[in-house]
Amino acid sequence: MLVFKTVRELQQFLSTVASNSIGFVPTMGALHQGHLSLIEKSQQQNKLTVCSVFVNPTQFNNKEDLLNYPRNVLADIHLLENLDCDNEEKRIVLFLPSENEIYPNKIEKSYDFGNLSLVMEAQHRPRHFDGVAMVIERFFDIIQPTKAYFGEKDFQQLAVVRNLVKQLNLSVQIIGCPIVREANNLAMSSRNERLTSDQKEQAAHIYKFLQIAKQQAKTLTVEQVKNNFVNSIKNIPALQLEYLEIANGNTLTSIENWEDTTYCVAFVAVFVGNVRLIDNVTLFNFRKSILGSI
Ligand code: AMP
Repeated sequence: MLVFKTVRELQQFLSTVASNSIGFVPTMGALHQGHLSLIEKSQQQNKLTVCSVFVNPTQFNNKEDLLNYPRNVLADIHLLENLDCDNEEKRIVLFLPSENEIYPNKIEKSYDFGNLSLVMEAQHRPRHFDGVAMVIERFFDIIQPTKAYFGEKDFQQLAVVRNLVKQLNLSVQIIGCPIVREANNLAMSSRNERLTSDQKEQAAHIYKFLQIAKQQAKTLTVEQVKNNFVNSIKNIPALQLEYLEIANGNTLTSIENWEDTTYCVAFVAVFVGNVRLIDNVTLFNFRKSILGSI
């Protein structure tokens, strides 16, 4: 597999390939099956997939989280090499830039994503989405991808990236990909590497309670569903809830009544020890089911 460490080398290579079939999958490494699902999707849709591994410092509001973030480039390379990475019809190249390559000018930018800049992750991780937008804008500028792939695991990030592309009037197509889960239904995450096996077992309650919320959404009020979720998490000593939001899946605005939206998603952030996990489950999406049945 070709590995590029500088913008110049990568761009030199990109100038030799068809510019209308470049898929891009940005990651922070410690790759797992969730990342690989994005890469495989890109391989199906593009002749070339650029996967980046860059632990982006500007999106970490917590220094300790940045220091503790798992890094294992050799294992990442190994996983990518198992994906038929040198097949000319679905080639993968890895972009492994240094901080200087990505931020040569060290200029901090701020963005306005409306409500998306105010709720959930934005509220609990100040400037997080400025950091995400900065790095994605820079990567898009360097790579000029045809399509870029993002996981629904980071649902708000996906919404922010779509908004960024609209604001900057970019031609890249953003593809959202479903959450890949462990056998016990815990959403896969690089941060799971920092959990003990007991913590992983306890963390599986997050999805279990989200599924219960989905069932209860059929009969109980929004407030009752929220209270039940909060109380269930309280009963698991290993878990500390940071937030639960039940919101419109398009605008991410909190809802008070089910009638407030036809597309409703429950979002959570939960601490397991000092590891922060996020997850989400669609409670209902009537528009999709109606359109899907036509
Ligand atoms: P990260 O390395 O955490 O920045 O993630 C890189 C990309 O992989 C993001 O678009 C994530 O949403 C996506 N991703 C991470 N975990 C999962 C998962 N379990 N399922 C699907 N996509 C994921």
